[in-house]
Amino acid sequence: MKLLVTGGAGYIGSVVAAQLVEAGHQVTVLDDLSTGHADAVPPGARFVEGSITDALGVLPGMDGVLHFAAKSLVGESVEKPGLYWAHNLGGTLALLDAMRTAGVGRIVFSSTAATYGEPERSPVLETDPTRPTNPYGASKLAVDTALTTFAGLYGLAAVSLRYFNVGGAYTAKDGQVYRERHAVETHLIPNVLAVALGGRDALSVFGTDYPTPDGTCVRDYIHVADLARAHLLAMEACSPGEHKIYNLGNGTGFSVQEVLSVCREVTGHEIPAVVRERRPGDPAVLVASSEKIQSELGWKPEHPSVREVVADAWSVLPR
Ligand code: UDP
Repeated sequence: MKLLVTGGAGYIGSVVAAQLVEAGHQVTVLDDLSTGHADAVPPGARFVEGSITDALGVLPGMDGVLHFAAKSLVGESVEKPGLYWAHNLGGTLALLDAMRTAGVGRIVFSSTAATYGEPERSPVLETDPTRPTNPYGASKLAVDTALTTFAGLYGLAAVSLRYFNVGGAYTAKDGQVYRERHAVETHLIPNVLAVALGGRDALSVFGTDYPTPDGTCVRDYIHVADLARAHLLAMEACSPGEHKIYNLGNGTGFSVQEVLSVCREVTGHEIPAVVRERRPGDPAVLVASSEKIQSELGWKPEHPSVREVVADAWSVLPR
């Protein structure tokens, strides 16, 4: 297929682009490089530097779009909600409009567990209430809602994948390494590994008074290679007039303390940690039920252990 990957110079988008190239698809990456890296675009893909609001220039002739380009910092979204509504919702509406003009009818969208907010139960099912607690999650949920209406009205074939916590790295068959390297790093595993490398003095553990077994937040960590593979299945499963929504996680929760212990074992470093205040808006427990994508699309994680997620991230970090 001829496929457009928006945000394909970012962490998850670049892994998906690499897997698409490996599977024999013709891939064009559209990325404005606001947070991505040009050298993360796979060698076999065509790269166009630009905004999703200018997608019409590259869409004609495409069979589908995998849409990752977005603002994704929860804290920033609370400080600048307008930015998130403009980029994540406004930008995607412009992309959908351009897709209609160009006659491109398939989209796989990068949604998030943040659409659920503070879930009432664990694991979270796709049918559970969506009550985002920040503008980032709200803007992603708004896109999910738009996709449902566009599928019904215009026959769009859409799939939303709601990611839980993504980690690890991907090494392609040609040896190219794709890894997480955000200028502003908020995620737990890269922050722990930065301490192990000596780039930071200590890990800040945000809250030890949650209603969880050890008091720290529990999350479901999925390997980026497994997450990416689900996008290829989703693109094949797109069906005109339907919007399918799938959670993506491993179905097992690990606390911040447990992740820290795994990181200490994997790296052999002591990794000092200090307890800090809770981070506003962090739910206590966020674990996915991925039963639906497993039964409907046949997706199955190949790297379900958090140890492998950590080990793969650690092994490719430049020293
Ligand atoms: N966390 C932490 N210290 C950090 C980064 C994250 O204690 O430096 C905690 C955070 O409060 C949350 C969990 O680790 O409970 C996962 O956070 P992350 O930002 O990786 O993902 P999120 O679940 O927010 O999407």
